Amino acid sequence: VPDSADAVLDGLDPEQREVATALHGPVCVLAGAGTGKTRAITHRIAYGVRAGILQPSTVLAVTFTNRAAGEMRGRLRQLGAAGVQARTFHSAALRQLQYFWPKAIGGSMPRLVDRKIQLVADAAAACRIRLDRGELRDVTGEIEWCKVTQTVPADYALAAAKAGRDAPRDPAEIAQLYSVYEDLKRDRSVIDFEDVLLLTVAVLQDRQDVAEQVRSQYQHFVVDEYQDVSPLQQRLLELWLGERDSLCVVGDASQTIYSFTGATPDHLLDFRHRHPGATVVKLVRDYRSTPQVVHLANGLLSQASGRAADHRLELVSQRAAGPEPAYTEYPDEPAEAEGAARRIRELLDAGVRASEIAILFRTNSQSETYEQALADAGIPYQLRGAERFFDRPEVRKAGVALRGAARFGGNDALLDEVVDLPSQVRAVLSGEGWTSQPPAGSGAVRERWESLAALVNLAHDFAAARPGATLGDLVAELDERAGAQHAPTVQGVTLASLHSAKGLEWDAVFLVGVAEGMMPITYAKTDEQIEEERRLLYVGVTRARERLHVSWALSRSPGGRAGRRPSRFLDGLRPGSTGAAGRAASGGPGGVERGFTTRPDAVPRRTRRTVARCRVCGRTLTDAGEMKLMRCDDCPSDMDEGLYERLREWRAVQAR
Ligand code: ATP
Ligand code: MG
Repeated sequence: VPDSADAVLDGLDPEQREVATALHGPVCVLAGAGTGKTRAITHRIAYGVRAGILQPSTVLAVTFTNRAAGEMRGRLRQLGAAGVQARTFHSAALRQLQYFWPKAIGGSMPRLVDRKIQLVADAAAACRIRLDRGELRDVTGEIEWCKVTQTVPADYALAAAKAGRDAPRDPAEIAQLYSVYEDLKRDRSVIDFEDVLLLTVAVLQDRQDVAEQVRSQYQHFVVDEYQDVSPLQQRLLELWLGERDSLCVVGDASQTIYSFTGATPDHLLDFRHRHPGATVVKLVRDYRSTPQVVHLANGLLSQASGRAADHRLELVSQRAAGPEPAYTEYPDEPAEAEGAARRIRELLDAGVRASEIAILFRTNSQSETYEQALADAGIPYQLRGAERFFDRPEVRKAGVALRGAARFGGNDALLDEVVDLPSQVRAVLSGEGWTSQPPAGSGAVRERWESLAALVNLAHDFAAARPGATLGDLVAELDERAGAQHAPTVQGVTLASLHSAKGLEWDAVFLVGVAEGMMPITYAKTDEQIEEERRLLYVGVTRARERLHVSWALSRSPGGRAGRRPSRFLDGLRPGSTGAAGRAASGGPGGVERGFTTRPDAVPRRTRRTVARCRVCGRTLTDAGEMKLMRCDDCPSDMDEGLYERLREWRAVQAR
C-alpha cells in the first residue's frame, strides 16, 4: 500500500497524472489500447480517496465486465482505497433495482431467469415452431438484440433488415417467438438480464424520490470502455448523474465493437461538446505491447475508415523489442487448433504460465475445436465469456453444500479430520462428485469440473490472503462475489471470444480463424459492419504483450473445399502479402514510425461525418438538448413508451 496520496501517483506518466489529479468537473480520456487508461482511472479514484477528496462510498466505477470490476476492486484495495463500488452497468443496476423494487413497483423483485434458452424453447413449443439447437441459440441472440436495441416485436422485421442482420428464421416467426417469450416471462414472474437495465431506467425516470436517493448515495462516476456505452446505459448514467458533473470517462473509439447493441463512440467523441470545460487528456504511450505488436496494431488502424478512425491515435510502444508476430496457414480448422495446442505446449515447456496465454476467436462456436485440441494435449484451459459463473447449476449446488458444511462443519463425516480451508472445500466438493483430476475429453462434463476447480482455487487464494479464515468466511466471500457476479479466475489457457477479451492482456495471444468469412464474418456486409470487424481484430492484436500468433485455415474440416483465404485486414501487413496498405510488412521497431499510417493516395479514404438525427422522424438535429436525447422536441419518445409499458406490465403482475 502506497504510504501517501502522492505515492499513489508514482508509476504514472505525466498525462496519466493529469487524469489522476483532475478530481473536479468532467474528465474525458481518449486513448488507444494499452496506454494505461484503466490504470489511470484506478489511480485517480485511489488518489482522490487517499487525498480525502472522494468519499469511497460515494464513488461508482463502471467497468465493462465483472472480471474487470473485480480486478479494479483488487487494485483499489492494494492502493489503500477499499470500499469503492466497481461494477458493471448491469450489476449496479441489479443492486439498485433489487433495493427499490418493493417501493417503486411493489412486491419483491422476480427471479432472474436461469436458462433463457429453455424459456425460448418453451416459447417455440407454445408457437409450434420447431427449432434445432443452433437455431434456438440464434433466436435467443435475436431476442437479446431486440431488447438491447429497444426493438418491440412488431418492429423486428424492419429493424433487423435495416441493421443487416442475418435472421436465423423467418422474421415474422422470430417476432412471434419474442412476443411469446415476453409473455412467458411475465406469467412465470421472472425477468431477464436485459430487463434489469430497462426497468432500472424506467424506475429512475418515473420516481423522483428513488432517483434522489440513488443520487445522494453516488456522487462521482467513472466509466471505463466508454466507447461501447449503449443508449440505454448512457441514459442510466445521465439519471445517476442528474445535474452534477463529477464524471470521468475513458475510451478508445478504435475499440468500438458493440455496435450491435446500439453502442456508439459518439458519446465519447462528443463528450467535450456536451460537457464544455471538460478536461480532455490523450494518452499515446503504449505500455502493454512490444513494438512489433504495436506496429501491426497501427497498421490495422491505418487502413480503417469511418468516424472512429478519424479519431485514431497512433500508438508508441514503450517496451523492448520482442518476437515478430507469427502468421500461419493451416489446411483445416482441427489442424489449426492442433497447431495452436502444439505451440502452447512449447510455451509451457519454456516456462510461460498457462494463465498468461489466450486463444481468441470471433464466434463462440469456434471454441469447441480448441477445447478438444487442448484437452487432447492435456493442457488446462478456462472458457471466458461464460460470465454468469454463479448462476451455473453446479456452482449453485456447490454453494448449498458449502453453506451446509459451514453451518454443521463442527459435527461432520470428514471435516474434523482436515484442517486447512482448501482441503475442507475439496472434501465438501468431493461429496458432490468432484475429483481432483479433470475428466477426460471436453464438453459439458469438463466445464462442470472446471467450475468446481475454480471454487477450489478461489479457496486457496482466499486462505492465502486471509490466514485463519473459516469456511463461513469463504461462504460470505462467495455470496459477496455472487452479488457482484465476480467470477473466480481459473488457472489455465484462456479461451475467449474477441468481444469478451476487451480490456484484458496476456503475454501470448493466439488469434485464430483470421480468414475471410470469419473476420470479417460473412454477415458483415455494410461498410460500417466491415469496419467494426477490423476494430475487433485490432482489439485482438492489442491484447498481446509479447507474442502474437495469427492463424487461419483454408477449409473448415479435413478434406473440405479449401476455399478460404486469409482475412483482407492482413493484406499489406503480413509478410508476403500486398494489398490496401500497398506494401508488405517489413516489421521491426522501425516500422512504428509515424509514416506508416499515411495512406497511399491510390486508396481514397472515406471520411464520413455522423449527422445527429432524430430517432423518430429522422430530422437533422442541431439543438444540444435534442442531440442529447437523439430525438427532436416535436416527436414523442418511443423509448420512454417502451420503458413505461414494461413498468406498467410489472405493476399489473404485482396487482394480480
Ligand atoms: P485497453 O484499451 O486495452 O483497455 P488500457 O488503456 O486500459 O488498455 P491498461 O490496461 O490500463 O491500458 O494498461 C496496459 C498495461 O500497461 C497494463 O499492464 C498496465 O499496468 C501497464 N501500464 C500502464 N501505464 C503504465 C505506466 N505509466 N508505467 C508502467 N506500466 C504501465
Ligand atoms: Mg482498459
